[in-house]
Amino acid sequence: MNSLYREDNQTSLGGFIEMKSFVTISTDIKNPQKLKTVSDNIEDLTGYEPRFFLKNKIDFFSLICADDLIQFERQLKEALKSGTDGIRLDDFRIIDINNELKYLRIYIYRDDNFLIMNLTDVTEYCHRIKTNDDIINRYKNLMITLDEAIWDWNVKTGNVYYSRRWSEMLGYKEDEIKGTLDEWKDSVHPEDLNMAMDSIEKHFRNETDIYSCLYRMKKKDGSFLWISDRGIKQLDDHGETVRMIGSHKDITAEKETRENLEKMIITDELTGLYNRRHYDSQLGDEMLRAERYRSDLSILMLDIDLFKQINDTYGHLAGDLALQEMARVINGKIRNTDSAYRTGGEEFIVIAPLTNNDNAMKAAERLRAAVSQLEIVTDYGTFSFTISLGVTTFKKGDDYSAINERADIALYKSKETGRNCSSNCP
Ligand code: GH3
Ligand code: MG
Ligand code: MG
Repeated sequence: MNSLYREDNQTSLGGFIEMKSFVTISTDIKNPQKLKTVSDNIEDLTGYEPRFFLKNKIDFFSLICADDLIQFERQLKEALKSGTDGIRLDDFRIIDINNELKYLRIYIYRDDNFLIMNLTDVTEYCHRIKTNDDIINRYKNLMITLDEAIWDWNVKTGNVYYSRRWSEMLGYKEDEIKGTLDEWKDSVHPEDLNMAMDSIEKHFRNETDIYSCLYRMKKKDGSFLWISDRGIKQLDDHGETVRMIGSHKDITAEKETRENLEKMIITDELTGLYNRRHYDSQLGDEMLRAERYRSDLSILMLDIDLFKQINDTYGHLAGDLALQEMARVINGKIRNTDSAYRTGGEEFIVIAPLTNNDNAMKAAERLRAAVSQLEIVTDYGTFSFTISLGVTTFKKGDDYSAINERADIALYKSKETGRNCSSNCP
C-alpha cells in the first residue's frame, strides 16, 4: 500500500477514500503543461486515452475547472520554487469526457528535470463531506426550531453562532451578542475554564467521541448557571477540525436538587450534624487512611447524662432544644479536621483524625466542660445538663466494630463512675 493513502487514513474521514491506484503524470519541470508520460489509468479518470495527452491533442490543464485553475497554477508554481518533495496541493476539480465533475487530490514530486504528479479521484469522498455538512446543518436547524441553546463555532475564524435561546439563557438580548469565542470564554467561571478547554482539546485529539463538560457560566446579571455543554467536531478533508457544533443546557435546578438531596441523606434533621449513615462511611474512610499513612485517629463517644429526666421534667421540646444546643457547642469546639455526628437519640460521636489518645482525652474534657456551661431556657424553667464521654484510638488491624466497642466500653466506664466525666479505652 502506498504511504500517501496511509497518511490520509489517519484522519477519521480519510477512511472514506477508496483504495485506488493513482494516476501518475510526469511533465517537464520548465513547462509543466507539457506532459511527458501518463499512466494508462488516466483514461478511467478523464475518459480520454493516454495518447491524446501525449500528442498534445488534449491539454490536461484545460480539463481543470476554471474556478480552480488559477489557484492550482499558483500553488504549483510555489511548490516548484520550494523544491521539496511530496507536496500536497489543494484538491481541484476536472471535467471529464462525459462532462462530469471529478474531485482530484494531488501530490507532486520533482527532480532536476521532471515533475511527477500523483492524482487520486476523491469525488466520492468530497461528496460525503458535503453530505456530512448538510446533515449537521439540518440537525442544527432542528435544534434551533426546538429552541435549544445552540452554538456553532468556526474553529478557523473564532466566530461562533449562538442561537436566540442561548442569549436568552444568559440574560442577553440577541443583538448584544457579537458572536465570538471570547464571549463564551468570558462567561465561563474562571475556575472552570481550563477544565472546559482541556475537554475540547481532548475531543480535538480524538480522545472522546463527543465533547461533554459541566461548568458554571455567568449571566449578564452576574449570577451563575450550571451548564451541561456537549458538542461534536467536524473535520475538513485534511483531517483538521474546522467546525464544532453543540448545545448548552441549563442544569442549575437539577444540580441544586441533587446536591440538596445528597446533603439531606447525610444530615441529621434535628441538629444539622451528620447522621449515623455518614458516620459509618466516614469512619471506614478514616480507618483506611490511618492504616495506610500510619497516622493517628481517635473517636470520642458522647452521651447525655440522665436525659430521660430532662424530657420528663421539661418536656420533649426542651429535650430537643438541649440536643440542638449541644450540637452547636460541639461543632464550635472541634477542630476543622474533626467531624461530629448524631449517631443515636442523645448519643454523639466525634471523629478526630491526626489526634493521638492523649490529645483526644484533652478534647473530650474540653467538650464536657463546654456542654456543662450550657443553660437551656424553657417555659418551665432554665436547666443545665452534663455529658459522659468514652475515648479510644485506632490500632493497626482495627475494624469498624472493634473501635466502636472500645469507645462504648469507655463510655460505660464514665457512666459507671458517676457520669459527667471522660474515660479512656485506648
Ligand atoms: P444515662 O445517663 O444512663 O445515659 O441516662 P439517660 O436517661 O440519658 O439514658 P436513657 O437511654 O435511659 O434515655 C435516653 C433518652 O433520650 C430516652 C429518650 O426519650 C430520649 N431521647 C432520644 N432521642 C430523643 C430526641 O430526639 N428528643 C428528645 N427530646 N429526647 C430523646
Ligand atoms: Mg444518656
Ligand atoms: Mg444513650
